[in-house]
Amino acid sequence: MVSPRLRSRSLKRIKVRTPGGNTVTHYRRDTRVIARCGRCGAVLNGVPRDMGDLRTLPKSSKRPNRLFGGMLCHRCLEEILKESIRSSGL
Ligand SMILES: [Zn+2]
Repeated sequence: MVSPRLRSRSLKRIKVRTPGGNTVTHYRRDTRVIARCGRCGAVLNGVPRDMGDLRTLPKSSKRPNRLFGGMLCHRCLEEILKESIRSSGL
C-alpha cells in the first residue's frame, strides 16, 4: 500500500524506469500556476504556466512586452489608459 501522504490526487504520478529495469512511480507536486489579470481575473495570455520555465526562459518570453504586461489583461489596460488620459484634461 502506498503511504498516506502519496494518496493525494494533487500529486503528479510519473513512471520512471530504474537502472535495474523496474518501473517505479515517482510523485511530484504540480507547480503550474495560471496567471490572471489583477483587475478582472481573466486568464493572461503569453505567460508560461509552468513555474519551471520561469528559470530558463528569456525575460521577453515570460510576459507580454507592454505596459502592465503579465499583470493586467489587454482589455483592462485599454480602459485604464483611456480613463487616465480623459481625466488628465488634455
Ligand atoms: Zn482584466
